[in-house]
Amino acid sequence: MSDNTRPVRVRFAPSPTGPLHIGGLRTALYNYLFARQHGGTMILRIEDTDSHRFVPGAEEYIMESLDWCGIHIDEGVREGGPYGPYRQSERREIYLQYAEQLVGSGNAYYAFDTPEELETVRKEYESRGETFAYDHTVRERMNTSLRLSAEEVSERIARGDQWVIRFKMPENEEVVMQDMIRGEVRMNTSTLDDKVLYKSADRLPTYHLANIVDDHLMEVSHVIRGEEWLPSLPLHYLLYRAFGWSDTQPEFAHLPLLLKPTGQGKLSKRDGDKMGFPVFPLFWKSPTTGETAHGYREDGYFPEAVVNMLALLGWNPGTEQEIFSMDELIAAFSFDRVGKSGARFQPDKARWFNAQYMHRRDNGELARLFQPILKEKGVEAPLDRVEYIVGLVKDRAVFVSDLWDLSSYFFVAPTEYDAKSVRKYWKDDVPARLAELRDALAGVEEFSVEATDRFVHEWNESKGYVIGQTMNSLRLAVVGACKGPSMFEILYVVGRDETIRRIDAALAAIHPEA
Ligand code: GLU
Repeated sequence: MSDNTRPVRVRFAPSPTGPLHIGGLRTALYNYLFARQHGGTMILRIEDTDSHRFVPGAEEYIMESLDWCGIHIDEGVREGGPYGPYRQSERREIYLQYAEQLVGSGNAYYAFDTPEELETVRKEYESRGETFAYDHTVRERMNTSLRLSAEEVSERIARGDQWVIRFKMPENEEVVMQDMIRGEVRMNTSTLDDKVLYKSADRLPTYHLANIVDDHLMEVSHVIRGEEWLPSLPLHYLLYRAFGWSDTQPEFAHLPLLLKPTGQGKLSKRDGDKMGFPVFPLFWKSPTTGETAHGYREDGYFPEAVVNMLALLGWNPGTEQEIFSMDELIAAFSFDRVGKSGARFQPDKARWFNAQYMHRRDNGELARLFQPILKEKGVEAPLDRVEYIVGLVKDRAVFVSDLWDLSSYFFVAPTEYDAKSVRKYWKDDVPARLAELRDALAGVEEFSVEATDRFVHEWNESKGYVIGQTMNSLRLAVVGACKGPSMFEILYVVGRDETIRRIDAALAAIHPEA
């Protein structure tokens, strides 16, 4: 077991088999939080030894996703580092000697079974209603170095027969393991098969061997990964033991799954498609099928909101606090507060987090993000004006793309008037009273928020009109509907002349129902 004085070195070790799922992103995040909290090192190792599942562009996608979220890598494919290379396909020379070492020590063996031979045995099992597993019950009767003579083994290897090296799983051993989240975990080896560690066909290790060898060579202190790897933990423990590395083996933390919004089963792309939320950080287009998938970035989420949401999917701070910056997460995170059972993904909560970050966002920055949308709508407006407007409406927005609907009337005079509000407020002598107010407002010199507020109220009082009616008709005329922030803020931004024009236009356009 590792000791506490060891420098913290963690790795995020994705396989580039497609876009990174938000569950994977959360794994990267927890690794990062733990690394930063302990002044440790964050490694990005690309596990690309399964050439059949390799997808072009996936590695770049992973790195771009981490960049977008502000998860900084200390050692990795791009960054380099003293333990490189960090892409397993570039380390292929390293692994064979380790596989052979295990054969030498009796912990692994060569197996020469051809795919056809394996298929025959599998069928044989099936015909008896049993499932075939390559384990201690069959290994002695297969074409392995356990049964064949040393000469025959060398001969077969020399003549270029295909072989694999399999781990010789001990029989009926209770493996006792420690997990930082789950505590003690026990599993009996009798249910485990003899996993392939290395294949001569492509001269590449499988995940298990490469992963253990690299974690050892890269001096990884803590392995933080998804719960789906928990069943592999006994094998990994036994591999460390077989290599004689148990003393320095990393500590393990297996993170709870991200569950569907219903709480039943693992969160999948299909759930996202069905319910309209992304399960990937960035937009993705498959280079092979052309299939596309939504991404949080392109759907208008702030990276800080995504990070905050993911941090709380599986971990809780033990307080009521929900909004955390990356630095606050680094300070607060601990495995003691990571749950053992799955974390249910809630699309509404994702939107809620984005809204929180929207409200806290600097108006100037939001105005800059809003500018391209305004341009698209054919609106030219000075940045300081946009900034002011954004400040008035952002509390109602979830995404930057909501800002137009919330504020279009500041930039463009209404051409339509909300029918329901017209029915409700534009009746009796209300229009005539608004016409009176129009004339009064035309004489107001200063159009500040406070000045118009005072003026309208005093005017209304002197006339003895109902203030609600006055305000609703004014709003309907200037905004086109009974919505929006303070009316006097709107008057200030729109200005006196435009206010008068809009009242005139409304008086001419709205014909109350008889
Ligand atoms: N390459 C594995 C994956 O794609 C890594 C698992 C681990 O962290 O050990 O998830």
